Amino acid sequence: MTDCLFCKIAAGEIPCNKAYEDADVLAFYDIHPQAPVHILVIPKAHAAAGAGEITAENSALAGKCFEAIAKLAGELDLSAGFRVVTNNGPAAGQTVPHLHFHLLAGKDLSLTMG
Ligand code: AMP
Ligand code: ZN
Repeated sequence: MTDCLFCKIAAGEIPCNKAYEDADVLAFYDIHPQAPVHILVIPKAHAAAGAGEITAENSALAGKCFEAIAKLAGELDLSAGFRVVTNNGPAAGQTVPHLHFHLLAGKDLSLTMG
């Protein structure tokens, strides 16, 4: 999608601090981290605006994002614990309408979820 920030990052048109990449998935450090480790994991393709658009046609890409999350958790030794968050829609605080998962770790995360 032409006017999508994360599509531009996936295409290399806007730089990012890369944490992981394969053919389908890119992970990069959030520009405004909310935890000592705060990584965004995205499908490179603009397959869905958010979790509310996951279907049988695109769910494999969401699964690949979770495979990347598990790899990152191993590589970064997040065995003490980590959290995966996805915001869907403005009331949930979503600002970039390209499916993405926040990987948060590095401190005792709040147990408050909402
Ligand atoms: P969300 O609010 O769930 O849509 O998440 C979007 C995230 O993208 C926010 O946590 C932002 O801090 C982050 N963000 C925005 N622009 C960039 C950028 N250029 N590089 C890295 N992270 C970004
Ligand atoms: Zn996009």
